[in-house]
Amino acid sequence: MTIAADALQPMVTFGTNPGMVVGISDPVPDGGDDPSFRKALSYMQIESGKPMTENPVDVVFVGSCTNGRLSDIEEVARILKGQKVADGVRMLVVPGSQQVKNQAEAKGLDRIIVAAGAEWREAGCSMCIGMNGDTVPQGKLSVSTSNRNFEGRQGTGARTVLASPATAAASAIRGRVADPRTFA
Ligand code: SF4
Repeated sequence: MTIAADALQPMVTFGTNPGMVVGISDPVPDGGDDPSFRKALSYMQIESGKPMTENPVDVVFVGSCTNGRLSDIEEVARILKGQKVADGVRMLVVPGSQQVKNQAEAKGLDRIIVAAGAEWREAGCSMCIGMNGDTVPQGKLSVSTSNRNFEGRQGTGARTVLASPATAAASAIRGRVADPRTFA
């Protein structure tokens, strides 16, 4: 099987498991009468038939063991450079390990991230699992580079949209779920 990966658009989740995913320009699918689908959209306060880019963002989390590599932070810094995180959006960037943190700081990536208005944090799980008080407030929408978007994963009532580091950075700047290709 051959997959033309360069023909794929950035993907984001719209529901409450990692498989409920849609292209960033495509409308959220209609799951019909499937009760689990309806429950997921109700929890997420997401409408079928509209692209995810219509959803305002409250929190952006870049990190986790899944997307906290040096290359992820480099991508985020590339997009954030010379930009500002949108008013009202809280953005955390959390390296996946102390080694990654040291490497990123040696390259000056932390300064780019802080200059854009994001928080540069100690390595750890952080908002992937609502660790150490790093939680998304009730009902708020988070674009997160972590790996799970189950109900309450990032805090009670938190609404999690899984995305790539590039999509997360673009969303922080735009203040809504955003296509990172506009920052190419
Ligand atoms: S909580 Fe998240 S970042 Fe921490 S080990 Fe589990 S999946 Fe990885």
